[in-house]
Amino acid sequence: MRTVRTVAELREPLAPDRRAGRRIGLVPTMGFFHEGHLSLMRRARAENDLLVVSLFVNPAQFAPGEDFSAYPRDEQRDAELAEAEGVDVLFSPPAEEIYPDGFDTTVTVGRLTETLEGDEAQRGAEHFQGVTTVVTKLFNMVGPDVAYFGQKDAQQALVIRKLVRDLDIPVRIEVCPTIRDEDGLALSSRNAYLTPDERQRALALSRALRTAESAVESGTREAAAVVAAARKELERAGIEPDYLQLRSATDLSPVERVNGSTLLAVAARVGRARLIDNAILGGEE
Ligand code: AMP
Repeated sequence: MRTVRTVAELREPLAPDRRAGRRIGLVPTMGFFHEGHLSLMRRARAENDLLVVSLFVNPAQFAPGEDFSAYPRDEQRDAELAEAEGVDVLFSPPAEEIYPDGFDTTVTVGRLTETLEGDEAQRGAEHFQGVTTVVTKLFNMVGPDVAYFGQKDAQQALVIRKLVRDLDIPVRIEVCPTIRDEDGLALSSRNAYLTPDERQRALALSRALRTAESAVESGTREAAAVVAAARKELERAGIEPDYLQLRSATDLSPVERVNGSTLLAVAARVGRARLIDNAILGGEE
């Protein structure tokens, strides 16, 4: 595995591979790898000739006062884990390589970025603007055939799909299932912020999603009733969610009833950590 830090170093060696028709896979990350990241790399490794993983804690997607400086980082450990997964190139640029002096362009996806995480009371649409700008740059730098994202960040995955469709970016987007610890907690680099007690409390998020799933399986369809069942689980753990919402899993529009593919999305603060999780509820009628 080679670790590269500049766009030039990244692009040059990929050109012959691309010309030779080798398939290039990209896994964009902010590092501090866990099994969620590794699952994306494994899938990408199996489906591509060349595997590029980017590691960049993107300042543009953090609001002022968010955890940009505190965000956990351990490049050496990440490099070892990536190498063990058969990653060919680890692209770990300094911020000035991505945002050189005078950088002044942003890529914005519309409505999908203005709700849930993009609501001004949450992270705000600027968060997604930071994501879509850096992901567009990564697509242009790497020129991947396929890029892999996690369902853990369900809204982000929808936003990236929309970005690629609207701007005709020639990359296929694959969304991989959320990886959880045995007790149900969705893996996240931010779980590192949790004390053992907080981690215990954080389990209420996945429990709430499972409770909603059971409600739907046993025939509840009304959105308010499904959400109420989930909310009760959070309340029992003393968690007041930032949001807990049922939305269309394709365009995030609000739904009155669970029918077909519906997304139950939750965000909550537990201690210092702001956690998000989600489930797709079936409920075919
Ligand atoms: P991050 O480093 O948190 O920006 O995540 C990099 C990629 O890994 C994103 O596409 C995430 O959606 C994905 N990811 C993060 N956590 C998980 C998880 N628990 N299961 C599956 N994918 C994940």
